[in-house]
Amino acid sequence: MQTEAAPDHNPFRIARKQLDEAADIIQLDPAAHEILRWPLRELHVTIPVKMDSGCIKIFHGFRVQYNDARGPNKGGVRFHPDESIDTVRALAAWMTWKTAVMDLPLGGGKGGVICDTKSMSNDELERLSRAYIRQVGRMLGLEKDVPAPDMYTTPQIMAWMADEYSFMQGNNEFGVVTGKPLELGGSAGRGDATARGGIYCVREAAELLGMNLSGMKAAIQGYGNVGSNTHKLAVELLGMRVVCVSDSQGGIYNPEGLDHAELMTHKQATGSVTGFPGALPVANEELLELDVAVLFPAALESVINGSNAGNIKAILIAELANGPATPEADKILYSKGIHVIPDLLCNAGGVTVSYFEMVQNSYGYYWEEEDVHRRLEKKMKTAFRKVNETARKYNVHNRLGAYILAVERVADAMKLRGWV
Ligand code: GLU
Repeated sequence: MQTEAAPDHNPFRIARKQLDEAADIIQLDPAAHEILRWPLRELHVTIPVKMDSGCIKIFHGFRVQYNDARGPNKGGVRFHPDESIDTVRALAAWMTWKTAVMDLPLGGGKGGVICDTKSMSNDELERLSRAYIRQVGRMLGLEKDVPAPDMYTTPQIMAWMADEYSFMQGNNEFGVVTGKPLELGGSAGRGDATARGGIYCVREAAELLGMNLSGMKAAIQGYGNVGSNTHKLAVELLGMRVVCVSDSQGGIYNPEGLDHAELMTHKQATGSVTGFPGALPVANEELLELDVAVLFPAALESVINGSNAGNIKAILIAELANGPATPEADKILYSKGIHVIPDLLCNAGGVTVSYFEMVQNSYGYYWEEEDVHRRLEKKMKTAFRKVNETARKYNVHNRLGAYILAVERVADAMKLRGWV
């Protein structure tokens, strides 16, 4: 008897499928298409780290340089127990498309280490971060590849990485990593840049759809840097009511709206949003299907897929996570008329301010926070309009619109360089 195939949530296969679809529509040159189906370079590293107990633990990590036709590879480093070469490849591919959608003079890369930061001490994390850079440092550089924070990596971790790399070079080269603390050449406005860029996109989408967001309900999946800042800014800049949020422990719901400052105090004290006084518990899957105007997935990949996309009630989905929806979900959401702001655009505020950080590092002069916000807003608006225009021109959903725009830009650069 034939059994139904399990849905394919392998992120790299998904990334390739998305590329293939865009390449097909624009009749991309076959050689350009083939290059873009593969990372240009990747390094797998084995990292011994002395733990506090005195024993040595062996970690595994990766750095993938997907494509640098438009400029140095750029992308974060994730510390996650489920990291694998295929998640890092997919994320590196998505960085390539993201920097192209934003028209930044950068390529795409990504790094990852398989580890559980929650079970590690601060000293162990420092030793792991430094050891990772000693291993992958040979492929990094201002003009080669510039890492940044991502899931479970912080400005402090970026500071250790920049320090270790500087010692390897024999001089300070803080610009080799972005998302650093302000004291070490970080940029004003980098901390909430991903969330802020997403909120600017939601504002553009609301204008396009003729929606007034003031007082409307929002749900946010994920409450790390991106999710928590999205909560704050959705209230402050859009006047929305955030009724439901979640983290890896579970979710909470209050139809009157959740107070950001009180919830941050609770999360800092208890380590989770769960158990917040006055709110009802909600499972992470339920959050996605709530009757809200805007849904913000800000956690993991493939959470919106063939099995739940049909139940989504939001008018707008703002993808702050990387790869939160599968290709099956895209089809369903498009046919339901749900407006999706794809990850390549929606969460690109982070890398855009990282690029601003690289620029400031290179001339050693630092901008005011308002300048960063103004420049970010301009970049987000331009990219939003371009994606929308492309999607309309080809009569496809916004993710495909973003892909077409990005793939054309990267393919043009490869052509000009004589690669294809
Ligand atoms: N990790 C973020 C992303 O996925 C930011 C990358 C960067 O700043 O280079 O876009």
